Amino acid sequence: MFEARTYDAAGRVGELTVPRAGVTVETPALLPVINPHLQTISPAELEQEFGAEILITNAYILYGSDEYREQALAEGLHDLYGFSGAIMTDSGSFQLAEYGNIDVDTAEILQFQADIGSDIATPVDVPTPPNAGRDQAERDLETTQAALETAADFDAGEMLINAPVQGGAYPDLRERAARDAYATGLDIYPVGAVVPLLNDYRYAEMVEAVAAAKRGLGADAPVHLFGAGHPMMFALAAALGCDLFDSAAYALYARDDRYLTVRGTEHLGDLHYFPCSCPVCTAHTPDDVAARDEPDREDLLARHNLHVTYAELRRVKQAIRRGNLLELVDERARSHPAMTDGYRTLLDHADWLEQSDPTNKDTFLQVSAESARRPEVHRHHERLTRLTVDADTVLVTEGGNNDRFVATWGLKPPFGPVPRALAKTYPLTAEIPERRSRAACEAAADGVARLATANPETEFTIGHFDWPASALARLPETVARIDLSEEEG
Ligand SMILES: [Zn+2]
Repeated sequence: MFEARTYDAAGRVGELTVPRAGVTVETPALLPVINPHLQTISPAELEQEFGAEILITNAYILYGSDEYREQALAEGLHDLYGFSGAIMTDSGSFQLAEYGNIDVDTAEILQFQADIGSDIATPVDVPTPPNAGRDQAERDLETTQAALETAADFDAGEMLINAPVQGGAYPDLRERAARDAYATGLDIYPVGAVVPLLNDYRYAEMVEAVAAAKRGLGADAPVHLFGAGHPMMFALAAALGCDLFDSAAYALYARDDRYLTVRGTEHLGDLHYFPCSCPVCTAHTPDDVAARDEPDREDLLARHNLHVTYAELRRVKQAIRRGNLLELVDERARSHPAMTDGYRTLLDHADWLEQSDPTNKDTFLQVSAESARRPEVHRHHERLTRLTVDADTVLVTEGGNNDRFVATWGLKPPFGPVPRALAKTYPLTAEIPERRSRAACEAAADGVARLATANPETEFTIGHFDWPASALARLPETVARIDLSEEEG
């Protein structure tokens, strides 16, 4: 049902087959949220003009709607919305979290979703807010797990069913919840209740929540970052292995005159220019749009918001296929310090990212201090501990060969020692700045230390260009040092 085709870090371009809709959706995919009562842009237009392959709507709203309930039951969702792609439905869990109770249970709402022709249905889970205590998170999880087990027993036919992963702010609970959800054999795994984190720019905690959920799920599990629709964090979330996003943001933000960009949100009133080349932004100026009446203004902003959202998703997919997703994440991380925290937290999981990261991809570009913590650097350091050195004396150098030593290896921050035989292989073909960063030299020193420790019989000397003392301090005492910048001239 889900197949990952190409990986970069833990991100993947894949295919989600949705049998009831008879379609295959390329992931990472965006599901625009359709509110039946407030259709800013119609589902038919989303399909034709924006290329939407999948959308999400709330079955609980339809269930309680005098206007749409009977029509949805009689015609089915696809005719009601004029949409031929895949339709996912939500169950009312959001309303449950918001109002404390709802008047349906999982069996009832699943049957309703089946009856209205949903392609992917959702049981009634309990979203635990991030500030909830551990007791509440555990109690909520029990209720959610019971709902998932009811859903697993439900006779769904071709309809897929979501198995939401909760657990609040407790990574161990998230991981356990994910393992239990995966064991039910349900189909798609939304990581729930991250919206409050995203709204408060708590990206580091979002990364921890997703990483924990991913640890509990199999690699074949499609993962939905539920409620995440701001394009600024798609690259980061995709690098963690999130396959589905949903956006109500495009419409909700437009209603408040807010304009989405990949670097954050702007208020229409603050914009002198539109930094975008979508059809809306090329045909209008901000003053132009601001002068329009409400429904018009909202429509134009919603269209721009969708264009920029889909464009970022395409950029993320392209980056995964080229193998430079982490450079895109790095770029996005500079838009806000909280995004930098998210990126740094992602790199705390470099060992885990390394497991799915391809061994050969587009040239590694060292563009920041954070680059020194990428999974490729970890992998090279691991490899250094396994390399045997067949010489009594080795010069590991940023400069040229020297006959005084039996062997000469390259020295390349942030990787460290580079055996000649590997110099032309990924990632050691990396492009690095002439002006070394402290972090890169420190990482390279760690690499030298690994090699020296693994080969205690060999005498190592490093030739470096003016490395900072903090990097040299990481070398074992036994490693001799030559500052090549002092030798020159
Ligand atoms: Zn635009």
